[in-house]
Amino acid sequence: MKLSIVDTHAHLDMPHFNKDRMEVITRALDSGVNKIITVGIDLESSQKATKLAESHQRVFAAVGFHPHDAAGVKATDIADLADLAGQRKVVAIGEMGLDFYRNRSPREAQLQALKWQLELAMNLDLPVVIHCRQADKDMLPLLRDWTSSHKRPDGKPAGVIHCFNGDTDTAKQYLNMGFFIALGAYIGYPTSFHLGSVIKSLPADRILVETDCPFLPPQIHRGKRNEPAYLPLTVKLLAEIRKVSPEVLAGETTRNAVKLFGLDAK
Ligand SMILES: [Zn+2]
Repeated sequence: MKLSIVDTHAHLDMPHFNKDRMEVITRALDSGVNKIITVGIDLESSQKATKLAESHQRVFAAVGFHPHDAAGVKATDIADLADLAGQRKVVAIGEMGLDFYRNRSPREAQLQALKWQLELAMNLDLPVVIHCRQADKDMLPLLRDWTSSHKRPDGKPAGVIHCFNGDTDTAKQYLNMGFFIALGAYIGYPTSFHLGSVIKSLPADRILVETDCPFLPPQIHRGKRNEPAYLPLTVKLLAEIRKVSPEVLAGETTRNAVKLFGLDAK
């Protein structure tokens, strides 16, 4: 049976898809991925993401500055981002965050860009897409302040911690603040066995699935480009670990994605 799922984090604007972007979307739909959120990493890619969302019914956009691209982000760039975020099919601000593993931008620049974008999301009443790599120590208090100073109306959720790779206690802290936890194909890498207990501990109403394509392909496609059509593999793997059927997990994660990103209303 074909699953019905949402890829909550793809980078379809990237040059990796220049030759066959529409075929990639068609393959996704054929595989059961019936909605895709394509995520910007800077102004240009956010612009491309919104254009793609406008041109394809099943594609939605998130707009933001990735921590790798935080150096040089100015207040005026945030104003430009706000303009983009006003477009009809923009469902979140991000991806934003902290990456103290690669440190491609200075830490102060990463922190500044993150704070600006959190403020923007608050002003626009949009959820946030958070990238956090070896930076939970700084991220946790920042998001705790942000979520406690800002309650979204009607109990709407705060956002998602994307590509989660931490331990159970860290996951619990994000969950307590109202965040969802998104997982991708990397859960099947030999280096990810520590994630088994985290995956089992997550409440069913807080899990999302994502590809982060073109990056992080499933283990059997390592070394190749990732794409949304591979997401059912991740759903099956997650379902196996959580001891539920893939159909049940697909239903849960789809409901969660629709709720977090307000996909029904867009
Ligand atoms: Zn990403």
